[in-house]
Amino acid sequence: MTASLTDTLCTRCGLCCDGTLLADVELAGHREIVALEALGLEVEEDDGADRALLPLPCRALRGTRCNIYAHRPDCCRTFECRLLQEVGRGRVSIERAQETIADARRRIAHIRGLVAALGGRSAHLPLKERCLEALARSEELHDDLKSRRTREELEAAMTSLDRLIRRAFLGAPYDRRTRALRPLDRMSRLIQIAPPRPSEPRSSRSRSRPAPRSCRASW
Ligand code: SF4
Ligand code: SF4
Repeated sequence: MTASLTDTLCTRCGLCCDGTLLADVELAGHREIVALEALGLEVEEDDGADRALLPLPCRALRGTRCNIYAHRPDCCRTFECRLLQEVGRGRVSIERAQETIADARRRIAHIRGLVAALGGRSAHLPLKERCLEALARSEELHDDLKSRRTREELEAAMTSLDRLIRRAFLGAPYDRRTRALRPLDRMSRLIQIAPPRPSEPRSSRSRSRPAPRSCRASW
């Protein structure tokens, strides 16, 4: 990733840090764990796997910028979303990419407003989990018309954002049978992305896969 593209796009985006695209960042080992904990960040053990994760939304994020940029984990240094890769290859213009980021951020702001209207309380969770928590809580507590309409609006907004994220940032899962994007299964657990093979060099991982930074995509 060139410094200019990072400056132009990433510093105004932050969607791979704020829990929108990804649910956590895989850490490289003990050195990174110690360094992040010394900076006051919490690190989680991944149940059933011998690795540590930095949960997202990242507490080092300030607005759309990393507050520990010089000390960020290796995966953060090498990650490139699909949009950034496409701009780097000249397939998408910088202006178009900025519009896509702005569009995603507008949709996310709308979704956050709906989550708040439903009484969502889990700002520390990735966006999709926040939505699911707010929907489940509202369904349990409120059966009035206004709440039902807000839930429907949130589900529609989630589906719309899901399509944008998969297409522009993560790469869309394509159903060969129906020739369509796979719809969002709103009650499914987070999508599992297989971790990179241990023998694969870290630098090549970041360029061969759209979301190598985390073991879990958020959508
Ligand atoms: S989602 Fe892509 S454009 Fe946005 S900050 Fe992450 S790498 Fe940069
Ligand atoms: S450490 Fe910095 S680059 Fe990595 S997820 Fe947190 S805010 Fe983003």
